Amino acid sequence: MPEPHTHSYDAIVVGTGPGGATVARQLTRRGWRVLVLEQGSAAPLTGTVGQMASMAAVPGKGMFIQRDASLLVQGVTAGGSSAINFATAAAPPAELFAAYGIDLAPALSHLRAELPIGPLPDSLIGPMASRIMQGARTAGFDWQKLDKMIRPSVCRSGCWRCAYGCPFGAKWTARDFLDEAIRGGATMLDQAWVKRALIEDGRAVGVEFVREGVVQEARARVVVLAGGGVGSPRLLHNSGLAPRTSGFFSDPVIAVMGTVDDIDGGAEVPMAAGVRFDADGISLADMTLPAPMYQGFTLQAGRVDRLFAHRHTLSIMVKVRDEIGGAIGLKWASKPLHANDRLKLDRGVEMAREVLRGAGAPHVFHSRHFAAHPGGSVRIGEGVDSDLKAGAANLYVCDASVIPRPWGLPPTLTLLCLGVRLGEHLAAQ
Ligand SMILES: Cc1cc2nc3c(=O)[nH]c(=O)nc-3n(C[C@H](O)[C@H](O)[C@H](O)COP(=O)(O)OP(=O)(O)OC[C@H]3O[C@@H](n4cnc5c(N)ncnc54)[C@H](O)[C@@H]3O)c2cc1C
Repeated sequence: MPEPHTHSYDAIVVGTGPGGATVARQLTRRGWRVLVLEQGSAAPLTGTVGQMASMAAVPGKGMFIQRDASLLVQGVTAGGSSAINFATAAAPPAELFAAYGIDLAPALSHLRAELPIGPLPDSLIGPMASRIMQGARTAGFDWQKLDKMIRPSVCRSGCWRCAYGCPFGAKWTARDFLDEAIRGGATMLDQAWVKRALIEDGRAVGVEFVREGVVQEARARVVVLAGGGVGSPRLLHNSGLAPRTSGFFSDPVIAVMGTVDDIDGGAEVPMAAGVRFDADGISLADMTLPAPMYQGFTLQAGRVDRLFAHRHTLSIMVKVRDEIGGAIGLKWASKPLHANDRLKLDRGVEMAREVLRGAGAPHVFHSRHFAAHPGGSVRIGEGVDSDLKAGAANLYVCDASVIPRPWGLPPTLTLLCLGVRLGEHLAAQ
């Protein structure tokens, strides 16, 4: 029998990625008593490969080998994937949300005023990103600096730790909002895996979760599922409110690499600059990653000869907007590429080759595709309504799963906007 958790709450938020942490913060600001449950650890970020692996290489939760043998990754930790992401900010596409009666502009202007969003100063753009920008412009691309969620005054030039979890507090992560919620009185339990929402008479009344091997129940008048693109459809299914599998998008990526003789680098902020072709659903950006990640790409590409060329190899990320398909199951997720997705990737790789030629990196090779943006699995208009309400009263979903259509953009800022909007909607009730 589950043990009752001793308190009851105004709201329970499941998951601490950008969506969940934002709702938790908004509600605690409004005086709500909030319980936040996160299956990952809230141990401080150390920026080490070991910790990064413990946050992302969690089979069935953070790492999935898909049916075509490609990799899908996401963060399982306080802050969710934002702890290990590349900190690129993209404004929500207004028209896409307007089609569902959702206006994210007020939330966006509020977030822009409070968060460190903007392009990096030149002093933090690494030599590889600069060379790639030069090559892209030579090849005729409108390659511009991208907005980042990084505090330039804290960020260190020549550092490479953002993708492992910035230990210096330079990169904004959802842990920032989570900490604010905790300071505001929220109760946060990490390593607490939520099995399901408790539904009684068509209303969500709490959740059942497992912590330190003990099955517990916690009760609240509102439950917000924010387990991410993979976690939330599973939670809904376990609560009897969704089918066993859900289709999704993953925004597949290929790393295209070429070696130069005159740069000794490899330690810089990834995605400092790039170009987007929104109509085609293709985007390109520099992507200098720490050596072990680069070595993973070279091995995957069968290029053992380039294994130790990290400090001289320019890397470009080609990311595409893929169709919704595949399936998220209870222990697995797999999103095979549609023929159209392959065509877009091929086109993007060709563009990246042109950029690398312009940058003077002649011997180009590329990785297989992989993905890090699972979403669209509980879509607005299908799995939730435009207030993000799911199939029971007092039950909401707020994370990448609710994105209603194929995507292809950095999702974080959009999820923060959805979190602010949901928090304000609930508080106003
Ligand atoms: C390597 C990488 C680079 C990226 N780069 C960028 C970038 O530059 N810009 C950008 O905007 N986006 C980027 N992203 C994507 C972005 O970080 C994610 O889209 C975003 O974090 C998703 O937020 P979310 O609210 O959906 O929740 P998530 O971040 O997915 O977090 C969900 C949380 O819920 C927890 N959870 C799930 N199920 C349960 C359960 N049953 N019980 C308890 N807890 C549960 C998980 O452990 C996780 O911590 C990147 C992602 C990766 C992996």
